[in-house]
Order: sequence, then structure tokens, then C-alpha cells
Amino acid sequence: MFTTIGMPQILADAYRAGQHDAYDHPPERQIAEGAGNPCRCCLNFISKGEEMLVLAHRPFQAMHPYAETGPVFLCATPCQAHLSGRPDVLQGSPDYLLKAYDQDERIIYGTGQITAQHEIDSYVEQLLARPEVAFVDMRSSRNNCWLARFQRSV
Ligand SMILES: [Zn+2]
Repeated sequence: MFTTIGMPQILADAYRAGQHDAYDHPPERQIAEGAGNPCRCCLNFISKGEEMLVLAHRPFQAMHPYAETGPVFLCATPCQAHLSGRPDVLQGSPDYLLKAYDQDERIIYGTGQITAQHEIDSYVEQLLARPEVAFVDMRSSRNNCWLARFQRSV
């Protein structure tokens, strides 16, 4: 069993309150186009026409060579961090880039794989069964943007 998580609620709320992003810039405001704009807090699509924040996010605890930073979207209005169920972010693309990391947030080479949507669960389970895997990140297979993280359920 695994859990799908996005950006921590406290960080998403801070960005909505004006905190600068990973590059020390204020979040940009744009109008969402719908299915192409998954929020990294609730992990659902931001409805077409709704305002969204666009900012640089680094989904890692420490600064190191593997701490990739990239663009993400957030609902501009407060939303709840994803807790359970199957969010939109897992259903917006035919495939995704999945990569496993160790406890030091380093990529475990050989685990990176473009994975069909219907094979996400089985590949994540397979990776999390390996003791050296701390978590699995899901990125866009087209744009490389970080989408969500899978961890062992506690
Ligand atoms: Zn949201």
C-alpha cells in the first residue's frame, strides 16, 4: 500500500499568502486552462477560468545536486492537501515519468521509467518493496514537471 502526497499544506498556504518561491520570486498569477493544470496541493485540476499560482518548487528537504527545482501550479484560493482517494493528477496523462529516491533524496539509477497510467500502481508497489527506496516521485513525461510523491502508507 502507498500514499500519494503533494506539496505540504503549510507551504501551499504560505505561497498563497505571498511567500517567495524556490528562486525567491513572488508566485505568478495566471488563469487555469483546466485539465493541463494540476494543483500540487489538492492534486486535482484547477478549473478552467480559475486563478492559479505558478511558481518554482523544489520538493526536497535539502539542497544537493539531485534537488531539482521546477514549475508547479497551485489553486490561488485555499484548498485542502490531498489525503486519500485517486486525485486528478493521476489521470491527466497517458503516461508519467516515475523515479525512485533513497533516504538521502538521491535518484536510484535504473528506476526512472516512463510508466503508462494503468501501470502506475504496480510499478510504485514494485519500487516501494525495495528497502533502499524511500519514496517515488511522479513527473510529467512531456514537461518533466514534478507532480506528486508516493510513499509507503504508515
Ligand atoms: Zn488545489
